[in-house]
Amino acid sequence: MTSRRSFLLGAAAASATICAKPGTLSADGLNSIPLETFDYSQVTLAPSLAQTQFEQTQSILLNMNEDSMLKPMRTRTGLPAPGPHMGGWYDEIPNDKTPSGGGGFAPAEAFGQWLSALARGYAITHEPRNKEKVERILAAYEPTLQQSFFKNFRFPAYNYDKSVQALIDARQYLGTTNAFELLNKMTDAAEPWLPPHALDRGEPQRKWRASIGEPTSDDFTWDESYTMPENLYLAAERGAGERYRRMARRYLLDETWFDPLAANQNVLAGHHAYSFCNSLSSAMQAWLSDGSRKHLDAATNAFQFLDRQSFATGGWGPDESFIAPGGGKLYESLSSTHHGFETPCGSYAHFKLTRKLLQVTRDGRYGDSMERVLYNTVLGAKPLMADGRSFYYSDYNFDGSKVYFPDAWPCCSGTLPLVAADYRILCYFHSGAELFVNLYLPSTVRWTNQEGAEIRLVQDGDYPYESKKCIKTICNFHTDKKINNQH
Ligand SMILES: [Zn+2]
Repeated sequence: MTSRRSFLLGAAAASATICAKPGTLSADGLNSIPLETFDYSQVTLAPSLAQTQFEQTQSILLNMNEDSMLKPMRTRTGLPAPGPHMGGWYDEIPNDKTPSGGGGFAPAEAFGQWLSALARGYAITHEPRNKEKVERILAAYEPTLQQSFFKNFRFPAYNYDKSVQALIDARQYLGTTNAFELLNKMTDAAEPWLPPHALDRGEPQRKWRASIGEPTSDDFTWDESYTMPENLYLAAERGAGERYRRMARRYLLDETWFDPLAANQNVLAGHHAYSFCNSLSSAMQAWLSDGSRKHLDAATNAFQFLDRQSFATGGWGPDESFIAPGGGKLYESLSSTHHGFETPCGSYAHFKLTRKLLQVTRDGRYGDSMERVLYNTVLGAKPLMADGRSFYYSDYNFDGSKVYFPDAWPCCSGTLPLVAADYRILCYFHSGAELFVNLYLPSTVRWTNQEGAEIRLVQDGDYPYESKKCIKTICNFHTDKKINNQH
């Protein structure tokens, strides 16, 4: 049977037959020019689990009540706040503090991610309702861009980070002309409530909060300023201004995280799994935007540590925490917890990290890892529901079950629509005149390469429901030049 790795090599060779010179590797295995992703509109998914998840999440977002989405921002800034509460984590209400967070745990936390997913959805479908909805919401959002939103708030950096992404995606995919103006306004409002540099969880945040007269209880020390550089770098790259590059550099968590990782020290144990995996995409962006070799080394080393503590089926971080290696903790988790892997958030962070590593190194290991997480975790997630029910943990317990999270609209309700929109940018890459196939997903990519060759490449079949038969079919490339049947 064709192995995934040999398939990838074959695919690269096949595309080389069509049109290309082989890529060049430098002595340390890095390509000077990373592989490029295709535009969202260049890849079409055939009917499949992945496409169903995309359509289903987009439909939920398109039908959300806009007043309800804006209610926490309007309430916090003293504006009239009509409409019903969303429920669950999302609302600005006194937090009822249950083990899962409880109602009012993280007001407005998925707001920015929902707008991003709608913007990416527009790039895929060109559905006018996506653009109209996001721009209508942004117009109503502008009056809430005030300091009072971020004051006395549990997660200012988290909320800011996700809203930066929404605004740069609105600019990029919808052409929203005032998106950077809104970004500047939001940044002015947020900055007094953001720490001066990235802070680890716990004591560093408690000290900072105390110094500005903010609450210091444990739940006020879990903010994620160390995930911000990725979107801040992207803001600068997309033309929002050098202010964002300076901020990006400031929020790289070097001392306790990237410095030891770059020196190949495994400091993962005890760190919050999703957000610290997410921070590694910031390290990759520091390499891509700023050429910082230290941060590339930190990310590649950290990925190896993470890979070694992954479940056989993909996923990591039982009970949302990285474990100490070598002590049997991962095995123990199979009977001690039902919180195996925070699936939508974890897979979103995992896909961004492995995509960037793959683009930079062209090493198929990263595609293998991406594929394990794709097929064994998030493609099997229970669907997001209109009342906010969300799939959160994959349960790897020997006595496991597949259930919804206790609270409506948790963090994973923000990441699942992003994961579902991004499948198509993980399937294929290109460089110069070469086209690379990464994932077995029934799909079509359309591309005019730099030599002017018009290429249409199709993966057929019903993988993963069909296996061997399907792989043969998948390898049966159709291009406009009829160079077929490479396998
Ligand atoms: Zn989550």
